[in-house]
Amino acid sequence: MKLSCEVIRDLLPLYFDKVCSNDSSSLVEKHLAECPQCMKELEKLKMDIESPKITDGEVQLMKNISTKWKKDRKSSFAKGSMLISALAAIICFVSYNIIGAEVLPDGTLVEPFALIPIGYVFLLVFIISTICNLIISRKHKANTY
Ligand SMILES: [Zn+2]
Repeated sequence: MKLSCEVIRDLLPLYFDKVCSNDSSSLVEKHLAECPQCMKELEKLKMDIESPKITDGEVQLMKNISTKWKKDRKSSFAKGSMLISALAAIICFVSYNIIGAEVLPDGTLVEPFALIPIGYVFLLVFIISTICNLIISRKHKANTY
């Protein structure tokens, strides 16, 4: 079976990165030996890879910084929302305690500003953001070994 140049060219990047199987790479090598066009493609691939190599370290650094920044932003967002929701929940419950609820003569409970349900909503947000925070920090740890 003779492989078409198209197939070889699909395999070339894998061959170049040495991530394809031994069988595939020997097929590619066999084809390259008799196909100057594909050999040229491989040369091109080498050039493409090698030319930005000078800045490879810089690119990696930039990538690291940007992923770290993204992670930091995510975790600080989670931390911020955790803190704010906790504060808001506390404020709701405290002000509820200060203002107090009133039970009307006919038995209906009058809550000022619906503080308790709002407080519970903030509590829920707090729990969710705490969980997010845990997940993010765990991922963070897993990534920075
Ligand atoms: Zn070819």
